[in-house]
Amino acid sequence: MSELTGLQVYKFGGASVKDAAAILNLRRIVREYGSNASLLIVVSAMGKTTNALEEIFQLAYAGQDYARPLAGLEMFHREVAAELLDPSEVEMALNEYLGDLRQSLAELIPGNFDQQYDQIVSYGELLSSRIVAAAIDGNWQDCRELIQTDTTWREGKVDWVGTEAAIWNMLRHKGGPPMHQVPVVTQGFIGRAPDGLTTTLGREGSDYTAAIFAYCLRAESVTIWKDVAGLLNADPKIFPDTVRYPEISYRETIEMAYYGASVIHPKTLKPLAERNIPLRVKSFLDPEAEGTLIHDCRHAALAPAIIRKTDQCLLSFASKDFAFISEENLEVIFGALAQAKLKINVMQNSAISFSVCTDFSERRISQLLDLLREQFTLHYNTGLTLFTIKNYDAASVARLTAGRELLLEQRTRGTFQFVCK
Ligand code: ASP
Ligand code: MG
Repeated sequence: MSELTGLQVYKFGGASVKDAAAILNLRRIVREYGSNASLLIVVSAMGKTTNALEEIFQLAYAGQDYARPLAGLEMFHREVAAELLDPSEVEMALNEYLGDLRQSLAELIPGNFDQQYDQIVSYGELLSSRIVAAAIDGNWQDCRELIQTDTTWREGKVDWVGTEAAIWNMLRHKGGPPMHQVPVVTQGFIGRAPDGLTTTLGREGSDYTAAIFAYCLRAESVTIWKDVAGLLNADPKIFPDTVRYPEISYRETIEMAYYGASVIHPKTLKPLAERNIPLRVKSFLDPEAEGTLIHDCRHAALAPAIIRKTDQCLLSFASKDFAFISEENLEVIFGALAQAKLKINVMQNSAISFSVCTDFSERRISQLLDLLREQFTLHYNTGLTLFTIKNYDAASVARLTAGRELLLEQRTRGTFQFVCK
């Protein structure tokens, strides 16, 4: 295993590969900062490609015309590739997957929605990784040969033992780590189920992929290259006066990600913490800048972190006979939430009702209502926002709640949460 010391994993998200200029910038970063190490590069789909694929998939699934958005997606990839590569390389990089995508859409027969979603939406990473690998002369790797998951479509659960073995096996077959001379370029977000179908790991899951590789390869570090200066205490697109954490512990970061801080995918930290692999968050716009170092450390009190989740739904359940909400009732409610795959963002119990705040999904909420309608009276509000202030103080609470009507609020020692319109 010693030959792998110095292995680094770089993850480039959608914004860092959004066009040809961004990919040239990526190439500069890889040459300047990654040249002394063996490098594995994980890339996301370009820009908003995953959203576009979701839209195309939904149209195709509903039997509607998706020709225009598909043509747009094809043209976008062709144009970017043409700016970076020779014509023959463009063909090599794109034809296979653009052709497969077209065919998969044409052959789509409505059935298991989530399963089919994965077969289509995964093309974004396949395409972007081809273009990036060609543009930096990297060694392209289909990560589905390595990342093994179960069949939890759209949220594939990783088979760690199988994945680690596959990664080591690949290295051995190639006569040792393939990363020494040439960086390996692979896809974030996707994996493969035992039946051979493609799975995805959940939206924004490429960070998680980087962590999976780093864990299995016992990498020296992971760097996530982003369009922000590091891990900030709030989203700078929403709040003007953010501060950057220069250094922060795994634990704090895991908690922030749990509450919905969008900077890092929530599952990313655990594998890294387990093998004590430091995670750097750096700006691809300013690669010299310090960024944030996430590792096993102690630090003084942190600036309050503000996390906003929009498009929330607040559901209240009351038992039909006005009985108190009992453990038996809760068991039924939790079971139905799990079955409908609704994640609880906050919950609150009172004598005769129980409330949960979840991300809004019409499909999942209606499934939940079907499961519980007989036993409970249900009310729900949509279009809500959930704010979480981690490490709150009086000033941050006052500032954020001012002028807002709170539909639910909850305070623990470290965290203040509220749901509002
Ligand atoms: N492309 C996927 C998404 O947009 C995964 C990722 O970007 O991390 O959700
Ligand atoms: Mg993305």
